[in-house]
Amino acid sequence: AVKASGPGQWAFFDRSMTENALVRLRTEASLRSAIEKGQFVLHYQPKLDLRSNRISGCEALIRWDLNGDLVPPGRFISIAEETGMIYDIGLWVLREACQAQRRWRRHAGAVPIAINVSVRQLKDERFIDDFLDIIQASGADPELLEVEVTESALMSSIEVSAHLLREMRSHGVRLSIDDFGTGYSSLAYLKNLPIDILKIDRSFVSDLPEESSIPRMIIGLAGQMGLRTVAEGIETEGQLAWLRDNGCDMIQGFLIEKPLPEADFLRFVDAYRTARAFPSAS
Ligand code: C2E
Ligand code: MG
Ligand code: MG
Ligand code: MG
Repeated sequence: AVKASGPGQWAFFDRSMTENALVRLRTEASLRSAIEKGQFVLHYQPKLDLRSNRISGCEALIRWDLNGDLVPPGRFISIAEETGMIYDIGLWVLREACQAQRRWRRHAGAVPIAINVSVRQLKDERFIDDFLDIIQASGADPELLEVEVTESALMSSIEVSAHLLREMRSHGVRLSIDDFGTGYSSLAYLKNLPIDILKIDRSFVSDLPEESSIPRMIIGLAGQMGLRTVAEGIETEGQLAWLRDNGCDMIQGFLIEKPLPEADFLRFVDAYRTARAFPSAS
């Protein structure tokens, strides 16, 4: 088949490889300059507490601001991870979240902010010092900061993570396992880590209410272990009803609100407080 495809085919193959490599190099170069210039923004997605019916926090999600076009994390986080640039991006995210928390103190009061942390960041030996320095220098309250680490990231460096997570936890930072249930891991690690929250992966939530065995199992496990649960990616009233009836603590998803720029997020929090219902539903 290789021979039959002929030299032209190979030339074509080579050219497209080169093009991919070029696109990638260009992306890397402009990502590097974005880091220098701080061309990112955080959007904030609210989390709703199902018992109190209040906004109990939010998740900060990064976007790359490419001359006004917002590039979603799915398009650059993996490149940033492979090149190590995620380290500096992660510090930017933490700094920005800490500053937001301080800004909001005056306006919206205490709204905990969760940030996503990659395994590449955790594995860097500078991480814990840089992390704690930024929190301290910003004057942010570590109790209002939450770190989301995916289950698969955690599994890939369990020894490193256990130590770091304990250190962060001892300073009051809350820890949640993101995309829980997708890591194909043994559950034994859970009892050795200072985890506060399990986030039920969107892939399980989207099967609700018809297929509920995995969310039921995760909520049961969390209850037994004294952990709280957040279900991510709620899009329908049916999913909401099932989660409410079955003891899930918090939900996050487009049904409540999508990730919003800071000003819009704060308006949402205000409107929600006043209406005590989804502003969009009224
Ligand atoms: P994640 O941490 O699991 O974040 C949830 C993703 O689901 C977000 O996508 C969010 O916009 C999306 N989402 C929320 N509700 C719904 C819903 O109801 N339906 C659907 N279809 N999607 C929903 P986003 O912002 O594109 O982020 C994707 C992933 O990129 C995140 O997944 C996280 O793993 C990563 N990421 C985002 N920000 C950062 C960051 O600052 N640092 C690092 N290391 N990773 C980040
Ligand atoms: Mg997350
Ligand atoms: Mg998630
Ligand atoms: Mg996810």
